[in-house]
Amino acid sequence: MKQLAAKSSLFTIKPYIPGKPIEEVKRELGLREVIKLASNENPYEISPKVKKAIEAAIPTLNRYPDGDCFYLRKELSRTLNVDSKQLIFGNGSDEIIVFAARAFLKNGDEVIVAQPSFLIYDIASKLEGAHVVAVPIKDFKYDLRGMKKAINSKTRIIFLGNPDNPAGSYFSQQEFEEFIYDIPKDVLIFCDEAYYEYVQAKDYVDSIALLKKYKNLFVTRTFSKMYGLAGLRIGYGVGSKELVDILNRVREPFNVNSLAQVAALACLKDKGYYKKIALKIEKQRQFLYESFARLKLNFVKSCTNFILIQLSQEAGDVSKKLLQKGVIIRDMSHWGMKNFIRITIGNENENKKLIRVLEEVL
Ligand code: PMP
Repeated sequence: MKQLAAKSSLFTIKPYIPGKPIEEVKRELGLREVIKLASNENPYEISPKVKKAIEAAIPTLNRYPDGDCFYLRKELSRTLNVDSKQLIFGNGSDEIIVFAARAFLKNGDEVIVAQPSFLIYDIASKLEGAHVVAVPIKDFKYDLRGMKKAINSKTRIIFLGNPDNPAGSYFSQQEFEEFIYDIPKDVLIFCDEAYYEYVQAKDYVDSIALLKKYKNLFVTRTFSKMYGLAGLRIGYGVGSKELVDILNRVREPFNVNSLAQVAALACLKDKGYYKKIALKIEKQRQFLYESFARLKLNFVKSCTNFILIQLSQEAGDVSKKLLQKGVIIRDMSHWGMKNFIRITIGNENENKKLIRVLEEVL
């Protein structure tokens, strides 16, 4: 009898396990309040101007979105000072990772990632039949030299999260320039800057400026993190026109919805609001650092809105206990880090609750 047969590469990946909706967790556990500090979202509301822009676009929802993201493209090309043809938009920056894998990888190709790193690089690459070479991070920082050594004639993409998830650390302009200058031109350097807006380090990479020099460099950013549009799904990529033209060929025509487009445009025009949010998050980061130190917890200093914490107990047990008390965090044992949890920096009340509950549980 004939049977459905999926691509064999599908079975090389561990599917992403989504969390339960907060309302469902409340119902199951009989809790009145549940906070989610698991997915690196922004805990603050979107700006009133962004809200207004979304509301104003509701009457047009009977139409397909603008497949070219015309107005957003125009504004972003102005703010980044790049040609509008150098931009591509995705249903989240996740989707652009998938475009790169789909466009550049075939069976037997190799991809280099850090270990641990953002899971989608691995999943998207394996789905295309590529072999993923994972280079361990050192002291919670990328080992760029080790990653360069891993390149061979089969290497097609190097995925770099800067800063990466889950460590939350970054590499500097100097470190990156030492890395990129002699990378073969047929290897795509995919620089994922999802947390770009959080980074305050003076020596952080100016990747957009480097695009002029390196045609195999590609940079992605997102509106999900600092701009708080995670629920609308919109991110963008910047690269040479030739590279963007290739990625556009695997993009479906209406991949970015209309509400996301108007909201992202409004975010770019309301930078002042998001500067204030960045300051609030900075203050909360300091509160959490001090609290973790008081609780004698080892943590990795982060330039993002999440923090990796090392426990002396099993992360799975601690995560379950925190959940029972209404705090959802990321149990890193699923990433092979048995004693680590990752928490997102929440708002003041959420962070106080996290610390209170951690104190009870540990
Ligand atoms: N890159 C990294 C490193 C991330 O942590 C995330 C979000 N978890 C993304 C990319 C994807 O973000 P989005 O698809 O929402 O733009």
